[in-house]
Amino acid sequence: MQREGTDHEQARMEDILCDFCHKPWTMERAMVEGHRGSCVCGDCLTIAYLEVVIHKASDPPREGEQCIMCLEERDEAHWRSPAFEEAVICKRCVKQSAGVLHKDRDIAWTKPVGDTDG
Ligand SMILES: [Zn+2]
Ligand SMILES: [Zn+2]
Repeated sequence: MQREGTDHEQARMEDILCDFCHKPWTMERAMVEGHRGSCVCGDCLTIAYLEVVIHKASDPPREGEQCIMCLEERDEAHWRSPAFEEAVICKRCVKQSAGVLHKDRDIAWTKPVGDTDG
């Protein structure tokens, strides 16, 4: 998401906020963009990945609720932001975004590993 009042033509890094924790994009905090400018940061992605992919915990989407990254209603595990409960991301987007950050050599983010295999 963009900070309120952001000049769309001249949006700077710090005007881009994570939809799940509302913290700005910085060099230390990587960001993955979804549809319509929704974003998830590396911090939130770590938690989401741990909960949904590794521990297989999930907060099922409510009736009519969509993943804010792909804007699809998907019948699978989702992660809901503990701070902003309207922010949900589906397992597919968690995995996809994790893959994007993991592969980017300029970003020091790696996929969390489970308790059992690492
Ligand atoms: Zn975040
Ligand atoms: Zn999704």
